[in-house]
Amino acid sequence: MPRKPKRKAPASPATRDTSPEPYPSHASPSPAQCLAVRDALLAFHGFPEEFAPFRRLRLGGRSPEDGSGDGDPPPPSPTVLDGLVTTLLSQNTTEVISRRAFASLKAAFPSWDQVVDEEGTRLEDAIRCGGLAATKAARIRAMLRGVREQRGKICLEYLRELSVDEVKRELSLFKGIGPKTVACVLMFYLQKDDFPVDTHVLRITKAMGWVPATCTREKAYIHLNNKIPDDLKFDLNCLFVTHGKLCQTCTKKMGGEKSKVPNAACPLASYYCVGEKLQQ
Ligand SMILES: [Zn+2]
Repeated sequence: MPRKPKRKAPASPATRDTSPEPYPSHASPSPAQCLAVRDALLAFHGFPEEFAPFRRLRLGGRSPEDGSGDGDPPPPSPTVLDGLVTTLLSQNTTEVISRRAFASLKAAFPSWDQVVDEEGTRLEDAIRCGGLAATKAARIRAMLRGVREQRGKICLEYLRELSVDEVKRELSLFKGIGPKTVACVLMFYLQKDDFPVDTHVLRITKAMGWVPATCTREKAYIHLNNKIPDDLKFDLNCLFVTHGKLCQTCTKKMGGEKSKVPNAACPLASYYCVGEKLQQ
């Protein structure tokens, strides 16, 4: 007898990418704009060290075409599940702190089954250094339990064989995983071409007029994924996040100083719109 699926995929935010294009008449960004901005940011920052291991994983030891790296051998690939848990731990904290929380979690629990089966506060205690421990612990445990119920074991390596849309559908079956987490897992841990939208990405793309000034993060995600060429998504995303963290000009300007003209030192200055579009 054929196995009956346990339940249908719920209508989840993680499947929103199948929604129609929210801004069909908004032409920006063109592929040429995307390439020019990627090159400008790459020339300004170099490829950000923080994301370099993920880039090497994607390149699989090949040299980047733009000559910006050295073609080092890729680091060992983390499991998809380790990547997903790392991403869940990274919410509202820095990369360094979330990595510390992940190391502490792995030290406290040799297996994921133990995390699901433990009923006390050991999980919460283990990840306390990463902040929002109670929320994150509940989210991680619910996700792991869901994986075990759906798959019979706690492993997500099968996602590597699936398409972007299939991965989104699969991950939407598990509790506690929002669309941005899915996008990060796709980009960093499954080496797929997807373009997550965080605060920095939203602010910068609004300021450049790549999305309308009133755009929500969800709509920006759909529009930018439709517009940005696949082969530029990873580089552009890493560079926007890095630029958003480092560029004082952008931070100040997009923090509400409407009339401030972008500083010429910022490589994005010539791409920014003027007037009310500077506002979020
Ligand atoms: Zn800037």
